[in-house]
Amino acid sequence: MTPHTRRRLTVIAALTLACFSSNSSNAQNIDFATIQIQTVKIADGLYVLMGGPAQGNILVSAGSDGIFLVDSMYGPMHPKIMDALAKISSQPIRFLVNTHLHGDHTAGNEAMAKLGAVIISHENMRKRMAAQPNTPPGALPVVTYTESMTLHFNGEEIYIYHPAPAHTDGDSIIYFRHANVMHVGDVPSSLRYPNIGVTEGGSVDGMIAAARQVMTIANQNTKIIPGHLGPVVGFTEIQQQLVMFNAVRDRISNAIRAGQTLEQVVAAKPTADFDKGRMGGAITPDRFVTLVYTDLARRAR
Ligand SMILES: [Zn+2]
Repeated sequence: MTPHTRRRLTVIAALTLACFSSNSSNAQNIDFATIQIQTVKIADGLYVLMGGPAQGNILVSAGSDGIFLVDSMYGPMHPKIMDALAKISSQPIRFLVNTHLHGDHTAGNEAMAKLGAVIISHENMRKRMAAQPNTPPGALPVVTYTESMTLHFNGEEIYIYHPAPAHTDGDSIIYFRHANVMHVGDVPSSLRYPNIGVTEGGSVDGMIAAARQVMTIANQNTKIIPGHLGPVVGFTEIQQQLVMFNAVRDRISNAIRAGQTLEQVVAAKPTADFDKGRMGGAITPDRFVTLVYTDLARRAR
């Protein structure tokens, strides 16, 4: 193992911990100084800001009305985000929509709100965030919705909708109808093992249902921005994730019915044939199996 690999593994281990919690204080093990933001233009006035596998991808709409953001990464990323935005536009940040409450997508909210951004989320996301002991009041969304809402901004129709509980019970998917660009947050899309917010209303079946629903609203030409990795995926990646999700779900569900414990199921490596190409994210196969087992076992009871 080279020192570089060892450092990478340490970082991945730390990020794995950080990603399970919506509490931004768990991001303290990330070496933010070494993270650089990569900006990718995906359409006129639309950009993805990427900060490595542990930060939620930010989608930026920049135009004459100002800047609209999807998600805000961890708090220490804020100066880097501002540097990246300054290269795109000198307009003020007007709106910020959160895909869900996890810290890698929301911990930068407060700093954006201080700059005047109006924060928008699903109502369940705000409720959960407000109930967390360490949430600064300035980080909370000021506009919430229940089923869907549309923003008319920068010449776009920005359609924001709530899929049935999937990654959490407060998820939002953001669709730019004219540009045909969609940010799906942590609904399964890019090839990695997705986190499931099993203590935040998320579920395996919800993740599968939300990914299928994305494929009915989007089309073959839609540029789909995943919550992590990317910058852009398509139907193929979602389809591949659905195949993986369904297979792993069935295997673990059968094992639960056969009376196997979590330890036994993890040891049996039920994701092994899907691991190739899915190791670049923050969730290890064992962690993913644990999440799926946890959700299915409580449903079976
Ligand atoms: Zn998440």
